Amino acid sequence: MEKIIKGATIFYGADLEEQQGRAIWIKDNKIHKVLKESEVPNGVSVENKTGKYLFPGLIDLHVHIMWDGSRDPVDTHEKESYEQKLIRSVSNCPKYLEAGITTIRDLGSIDDIALHVSEAIERRTMNGPRIIACGKTLTMTGGHDPFWGRFIDGPFEALKGVREQIYKGAKVIKVSATGGVYGRTKGEQVDHTELSYEELKVICDEAHKFGLKVASHAIGKDGIINSVKAGVDTIEHGHFINEEIIEYMLERDISWVPTLYIYHQIARLSGVPTYAQEKAKRIVEIHEETFSKFFNSGVLVGAGSDAGSVLTPHPTIVEELLTMKKFTNDLLSTIKTATTNAGKILGIPVGQIKENYIADFILIDKNPLEDIKALQNVIEVYLGGNLIKRNKELDSIN
Ligand SMILES: [Zn+2]
Repeated sequence: MEKIIKGATIFYGADLEEQQGRAIWIKDNKIHKVLKESEVPNGVSVENKTGKYLFPGLIDLHVHIMWDGSRDPVDTHEKESYEQKLIRSVSNCPKYLEAGITTIRDLGSIDDIALHVSEAIERRTMNGPRIIACGKTLTMTGGHDPFWGRFIDGPFEALKGVREQIYKGAKVIKVSATGGVYGRTKGEQVDHTELSYEELKVICDEAHKFGLKVASHAIGKDGIINSVKAGVDTIEHGHFINEEIIEYMLERDISWVPTLYIYHQIARLSGVPTYAQEKAKRIVEIHEETFSKFFNSGVLVGAGSDAGSVLTPHPTIVEELLTMKKFTNDLLSTIKTATTNAGKILGIPVGQIKENYIADFILIDKNPLEDIKALQNVIEVYLGGNLIKRNKELDSIN
């Protein structure tokens, strides 16, 4: 498969530099070349997209594909069969593609559902975004999100737990370093430190040995410190990140996926389970302050919506970006969190229109660097150079 797309405004490279009069040459699912329109060779089919904006496919670094995004997704999943959970997960996938989200990272599902869905997409049994999924999350006995956790206590079990996930085909390892806001009605606080430094260290070393990154759910300060010292690759949430922690993160190249929108939803909307709302209210402002303070610290920040969780449907990436923008007041840096930065955080060649990157991109009518909401109206979606969507019609993969 080879083709050239010309006529559109292209957002080139890591800085999403606006370029006109250029064409992209797609070959073997990758962006083979970005060239001047005057240099387009004969013999390759050319499509003209004059007046459109050609933007990298979006990336959401934190979703739960099996959750329903209702006011209480745990309540939903506790009442239904495995089959219903699986069917919902499958049905959520096209929603991402339709919205121009071509890559997602799933950080928790029951019975490895996200791993199975990811594999089905890879095998082209079904359409969906590329999914970088963890298997079971690694938590202490009774730790955060126990329903999809693999309980580990002590370094030996940590080693066994991480190896199990690698064996099953996990592409990322998820750990719970602290308690959380939502998930359990009692017995859990955000500043509870869960997995120890020693357990986290074993997990990180083993995951890294096999080329996998480690994402750490970490809200309270001590759990964040354990995570960064042990060498995790991303801090998820990170409400209580401080100057000292930022120094560690910069030194060790650790990124941050703040997931702002979900805490806003839990803290401020009505109908949310009371136990979660009470906890969220206590930390939502701290989270926003931390985000404002350290967004420009040099630590790589990635966009994650926690879609599927409380009142956060699939997909919610634009809302996450709009929430970030309120605090950054910088459109380009904000939008890079769901493109350039997210690709770097995953460590795979996605998130940029650039030579040798996977040809995941979208066409839109308006310039997203003038208004993030332009991303809400995606006209065409390409996954690995294949047209997946045109004008809301979901075509099958070519
Ligand atoms: Zn989550």
